[in-house]
Amino acid sequence: MKQVALITGSSRGIGRAVAAELSRQGYAVCVNYLLHRAEGEALAAQLRSQGREAIAVQADVADSQAVDAMVRQTQEALGPVTLLVNNAGISWHGLFQDMGDDDWDRLLAVNLTGARNAARAVLPGMISEKNGCIVNISSMWGLRGASCEVAYACSKAAIVGLTRSLALELAPSHIRVNCVAPGCIETDMVRVLGPETQDMLVEETPLGRLGTPEDIAHAVAFLASEKASFITGQVLTADGGFIV
Ligand code: NAP
Repeated sequence: MKQVALITGSSRGIGRAVAAELSRQGYAVCVNYLLHRAEGEALAAQLRSQGREAIAVQADVADSQAVDAMVRQTQEALGPVTLLVNNAGISWHGLFQDMGDDDWDRLLAVNLTGARNAARAVLPGMISEKNGCIVNISSMWGLRGASCEVAYACSKAAIVGLTRSLALELAPSHIRVNCVAPGCIETDMVRVLGPETQDMLVEETPLGRLGTPEDIAHAVAFLASEKASFITGQVLTADGGFIV
């Protein structure tokens, strides 16, 4: 069966590396973006220039109708989605009591409901084929908690619950659901913290460096591969030993 991957939030950072790696491995890919159209379109064009199938589609993962339309567009252009990578995410830094309702709601709408929207949209096709795979991107902060990132850590802990529960519900349909919990990865999301905080995070990471987006892409590609065919409902932490 043709392998078709939809990677949410793949115009930049981790998602971009995941899309590039899956494409290298032979998947036709849908590059999803929200604001960075030029980056998303450029990645898809670059993959096509290498002889691979790729499209770029704008959709806000928090908007279920936009996500449904993106999945339909992917199916029409590339074929049924066989791998969903729920990667799109946003962060918010500050004291718990300073976070307003709108910021709280938006963060959960993107980080948690976005993953639900995309999973719900691809599942009818996967269930009817009794074939498919979902890899969610959580975070080590979702496993250990994070001061001044309460909403973010909650959303990432919820992604672990989503992963385990969906894995149980979908196992009879031969659909595997796993998640990767990255540590501190060199992307815009970490760059905004500034050099001092980044240095501190490097110091706290036993392997002594920030992770690269490619480190996470390799973990995702493994979980999506046949080599992981007996693995479901698991959290693969890729954090340089941060929370050992
Ligand atoms: P990033 O560099 O900020 O990139 C975020 C990506 O998500 C962009 O492609 C962005 O698209 C997209 N996006 C944001 N909101 C979206 C929405 N509502 N709908 C669709 N796409 C949306 O972030 P990153 O560091 O690569 O993070 C990727 C994932 O890994 C996130 O879930 C994050 O929580 C998780 N993570 C990151 C780290 C880290 O250290 N970097 C650690 C643990 C977990 P546009 O560019 O078009 O706006």
